[in-house]
Amino acid sequence: MKKFYLSIALLISGLFSFSQEYDPMVDTLINKIELDSLVNFVRILSGEDSVVVNGTKVLIENRIYDSNDLAADYIKQTLEEYNLATYDQVYDTDGRNVYAIQEGIEYPDQYYMICAHYDAVTAYCADDNASGTAGVLEAARIFSNYNFQYSIIYALWDEEEIGLIGSGYYAQQAAGNGDNILSVINMDMIAWDSDDDYLCELHAQDYANSLELANYMLSMNNVYELGLAPVIQYPGTGASDHAQFWYNGYSAVLLIEGYWSGDFNPYYHTVKDRISIFNLPYFNKMAKLAIGSLASLSVPDVTISVDEFFATTKDLQMFNYPNPFNNKTTISYYLHEDTHVTLTVMNSLGQKVAVLEDSYQREGIHEISFKRNDLPSGIYFIVANTLSGSTTSKMIIEL
Ligand SMILES: [Zn+2]
Repeated sequence: MKKFYLSIALLISGLFSFSQEYDPMVDTLINKIELDSLVNFVRILSGEDSVVVNGTKVLIENRIYDSNDLAADYIKQTLEEYNLATYDQVYDTDGRNVYAIQEGIEYPDQYYMICAHYDAVTAYCADDNASGTAGVLEAARIFSNYNFQYSIIYALWDEEEIGLIGSGYYAQQAAGNGDNILSVINMDMIAWDSDDDYLCELHAQDYANSLELANYMLSMNNVYELGLAPVIQYPGTGASDHAQFWYNGYSAVLLIEGYWSGDFNPYYHTVKDRISIFNLPYFNKMAKLAIGSLASLSVPDVTISVDEFFATTKDLQMFNYPNPFNNKTTISYYLHEDTHVTLTVMNSLGQKVAVLEDSYQREGIHEISFKRNDLPSGIYFIVANTLSGSTTSKMIIEL
């Protein structure tokens, strides 16, 4: 396959500047989330697998607040391995938050935060909350390779279970220092879904822009087709670390499984809360929602090769810009190999309204201009068929 050493940043500024919603770089970052990696973090944090910490092979037997230094050491070591500026925040004998900061290239003094508590009440406690902790570490693993316009804080709190103490300490300090934290995404229990309905909850209260943040995350699920069924709980629960940010004037949301919707982990706070009872596809999607939202908010400023951008098992990648559009849009697609291509436009009833292409084409980037003509406003689908499969992308014609 030929190499296209185009800068994707250039491509984006040239092609996507009209797109208000979909950002292909955010999509690329979301697709870098790996379930295997999430599972590995959880297995280590919940004492299923041993790990080498500070040169010694250890098993994290529990993360109870007064005996979880090993877990904190592992978290710190992991963040340091990603070359992030990592901090221990020791606020009393047993209290120790661990966090890392990735400086934004455009707005270093404005922060987006992703966080979770790492402490627990007994052994294992995989869902509560090795799951959320793994989400934070996965974000750090991926994002540390890229630049973002805004600074990102990856934070893991201690002593949530005995009264939101670690996060309370941090939030109060931050407010006292006047830290400009624009949004906080808190993950607490993101891996239980017993009936595969993919329902999840976004908890917000009337502090700062918390409800807007919840709505933003709701729309992320749609725009990036993550496949969750999120509901906003408003006014939501104050029973996790995000609440401490609310009380200090910050915008914050809790992402959690069906806490108030009748599908909450029944093994919560027991030694039966192990990774064996996770709904792994659900866990993966929950991480994608939280991490994808963080990516979108922090604005990736990324230069990668077109090869990397389009690296996928599919033989064709496609998008259109602007989208939504009023009069005219450009459909751009990339073929991984020479192949026969048909491109058709379907309306929301599944009726074919246009055939844009039906020919054998070379690998590489292709563009087609599409005029609305007399089509009514609404949702349409561009369907691309090649010899090895088909891809569909949504386009919206405005009023
Ligand atoms: Zn929890």
